[in-house]
Amino acid sequence: MLEAQPPVLTTALPERHSLSAHQAAEPRALHLRFSIYHLLLVTMLIVMKADATDAQIAHVCDVITELGLKPHTMPGATRTAIGITGNQGAVDATRFENLPGVGEAIRVSKPYKLISLDLRPEKTIVRVGDATIGGDELAIIAGPCAIESRAQAFAVAEAVRRSGARFFRGGAFKPRTSPYAFQGLGEEGLRILAAVRETYGLKIVTEALDEASVDLVERYGDMIQIGARNMQNFSLLRRVGRSSLPVLLKRGLSATLDEWLLAAEYIMSEGNYNVVLCERGVRTFAQHTRNTLDLASIPAVRRISHLPVVVDPSHGTGKNYMVIPLACAGVAVGADGLIVEVHDQPEKALSDGAQALTLEQYDQLIQEVRPIHEVVAPQPVG
Ligand code: PEP
Ligand code: MN
Repeated sequence: MLEAQPPVLTTALPERHSLSAHQAAEPRALHLRFSIYHLLLVTMLIVMKADATDAQIAHVCDVITELGLKPHTMPGATRTAIGITGNQGAVDATRFENLPGVGEAIRVSKPYKLISLDLRPEKTIVRVGDATIGGDELAIIAGPCAIESRAQAFAVAEAVRRSGARFFRGGAFKPRTSPYAFQGLGEEGLRILAAVRETYGLKIVTEALDEASVDLVERYGDMIQIGARNMQNFSLLRRVGRSSLPVLLKRGLSATLDEWLLAAEYIMSEGNYNVVLCERGVRTFAQHTRNTLDLASIPAVRRISHLPVVVDPSHGTGKNYMVIPLACAGVAVGADGLIVEVHDQPEKALSDGAQALTLEQYDQLIQEVRPIHEVVAPQPVG
């Protein structure tokens, strides 16, 4: 039997000029849509020469802007690349090829541009104050599902700080299936998070549910979490794309890799390039876990994107006893970090208690994942 083919309109293959036998057998209308789709998405990527000056880069950006398009400058280790977005038609390469400092003008026919390794061949390191995600350090983001009280947040934060982690998580706005379930403390929760930062020096990662809560998270937090349920809330993505805070973008409950990466593309297309992807599991027929943690997405992302990716073994399993093994597995497949739920009294948690680690279990997790990261992390050359 033939294996099902991925839908032609959502594949991210390099440009194809001839039709495969499979496509040739498909109705003509689909080819038409295929080519129109590609035409709309074909744009340009300008790769500057290694010795291009700032003035030459600025000039290329001016030319792009004059054409009514948007330049995205990505400085790299060896050269600067400039992505172009905003156009609905093909851009003429000759317009750029002869500008001073330009090395190459490359046609890009993939649906995503800014997230792509074409634009930035080296990994992005997202900086959150003096902490990083995507660099040499394994980023640990730990804390309760929801901020419930100052005492709870501080008890967990103390353990998180002691473990050497740099990030504290905790929701003040919770996306709950039932409108009658605990919805979070709102701004009061954010004030507690700000006090945690003040006391323990941890960077605060917290979810914004809508555009109004982005304003609040910007006031109190260090990194905006976009939850799985909001991964395709495009106005919210655009809003955080205009934020100066980095964004943790969780994979949607049923999102394909392309949909997830295009959600990141939305954020970046607005000018915020500090995006961290988070694999948190997707819904499948499996009943032994809350979600199926798709660890294959980590190498799959790596092949396409320069963005860092972290793993959430808490929502990815929904079960306390599975969190440590899946955290280890996530680090083993090359995740840049982990986001884990920890509670001082999981049995009393107001949300997600079943998957929360106790403080002791959290310490155990840290002890287990660190040596794995030592082994899998790229070794410094020389
Ligand atoms: C959370 O982090 O508590 C959460 C609600 O996550 P997700 O959006 O992945 O379900
Ligand atoms: Mn949760």
